[in-house]
Amino acid sequence: MGDVRDLRIAIIGAGMGGLGTALAFAKKGFKHIDVYETASNLGFVGAGIQMPPNVVRVLDRLGCWDEIYAEATNVQGTSIRRGSTDTELSHVQMPDIAAKYGYPHCTGHRWSLANGLFNGCQKEAAIRFHFSTALVKINSWAAPVSLTLQPRHGEPFTIEADLVLAADGVKSVTRTQMLAELGTASEEEDTGQAAYRIMLTREQMAHDPEMLALLDSDTVVRWVGERRHIIAYAVSNHQIYNLSTAQPDTNFAAATNATYTTRGSKSAMLQVYGDFCPLVHRMLDLVPDGEVCEWKLRVHKPLPTWVLGSVALLGDACHPTLPHLSQGAAMAIEDGAVLAEVVSRVPDLSSPESLTKTLKVYEALRKPHCTALVDLAAHSGRILHLGEGAAKEARDREFRENGRSGSVPDKWASPDVQKMIYGLDCMREAAEKFGGLYKRVDV
Ligand SMILES: Cc1cc2nc3c(=O)[nH]c(=O)nc-3n(C[C@H](O)[C@H](O)[C@H](O)COP(=O)(O)OP(=O)(O)OC[C@H]3O[C@@H](n4cnc5c(N)ncnc54)[C@H](O)[C@@H]3O)c2cc1C
Repeated sequence: MGDVRDLRIAIIGAGMGGLGTALAFAKKGFKHIDVYETASNLGFVGAGIQMPPNVVRVLDRLGCWDEIYAEATNVQGTSIRRGSTDTELSHVQMPDIAAKYGYPHCTGHRWSLANGLFNGCQKEAAIRFHFSTALVKINSWAAPVSLTLQPRHGEPFTIEADLVLAADGVKSVTRTQMLAELGTASEEEDTGQAAYRIMLTREQMAHDPEMLALLDSDTVVRWVGERRHIIAYAVSNHQIYNLSTAQPDTNFAAATNATYTTRGSKSAMLQVYGDFCPLVHRMLDLVPDGEVCEWKLRVHKPLPTWVLGSVALLGDACHPTLPHLSQGAAMAIEDGAVLAEVVSRVPDLSSPESLTKTLKVYEALRKPHCTALVDLAAHSGRILHLGEGAAKEARDREFRENGRSGSVPDKWASPDVQKMIYGLDCMREAAEKFGGLYKRVDV
């Protein structure tokens, strides 16, 4: 039997999942890791991101956390407020997250997270990046996998790999082809929601003491209203205030599936949040005309499998999620770390079936967990977006009583949910459960 670290690994996509996967395999000693990415560089990363302790644990083990943490905000609490009045419905203190889970809960700039992972990858001789190179087709699924790639300038070419890890995002070509191969339709699920993503600089906010107080604080604020909310926090050493919204999708409803972002209209954005409090309004009004960007929030129906032959899906390619639990990128990076753990333990390299079974162990470890989190994010959105009525009154009562119950309706901020998600050491779990699961999974 050869050395598992000699496997030729092709990773599709250099988003958070692809970068994390490449680094995790390199740290395990794999020697041949090729990353293929459609974009000419790391792509659009102009927004904030929450980095919960479950992913900080992984980033720390991959050796890239210190650099990311240097610019991050260590979150000390969350304030959930009525959007229309700015009245606080609940305040969840989080000063003990690091003590409880070993790592802090942080917010940061997406660029900082992507760059930290990328810098980590660049220190690894085993990893080679191929930007401006898109996967167009998987020609065969069993090892050696044959795949055709299309460089932006030049002729398509075909390569072979022993293992293909597809981190090609919510629009995953690999997922569509895998489902077609299995005779199943690829079914997107319309969330009916869209998001504005906004970054305000200290300079823009400097004239307004209320805004400056938000920028200087370590608290994540969520303003909720009927069918809408805004979540906001400081990033980049408190120099940038990041706002991410969720509202009914009106602009994309008639668009084709291929449309995910659009230049939004500032007046439409101000109107959507027209009945929110003056503080929110003043912040939205700072966005320059012509710079409003709206994102369609898309998810996919649960997949029958994430694995076919020697190909595995990860991240948004197999479990795209609404952002209300702030776990999408975290789950993608965790997937990569778990894949590296299990593949490094493949029992019989001479048997393609053994590699498939190993990938099925990854699926068994991750699919139930990620599916539960995707469902929880959707559930949280429904609760946050309630309109007037008995259900909303019950929700607000639960918010007020959170101190006693240890549970709040905003699942992101709920201590019981945090325990379930933040407490998971996905790498240790993979190492501990591999042997038992390998005996049980079917191919
Ligand atoms: C508004 C909003 C807020 C969010 N907030 C958070 C948060 O606070 N915390 C959090 O953890 N998550 C958050 N998320 C979710 C998170 O952004 C995603 O879940 C995460 O980026 C998924 O990573 P990925 O690597 O799977 O996919 P992506 O980041 O989408 O990367 C896919 C990559 O594959 C490339 N690609 C696609 N097709 C091909 C191809 N055929 N060939 C080669 N390359 C290809 C793409 O160019 C891209 O670079 C949020 C999402 C949204 C929309």
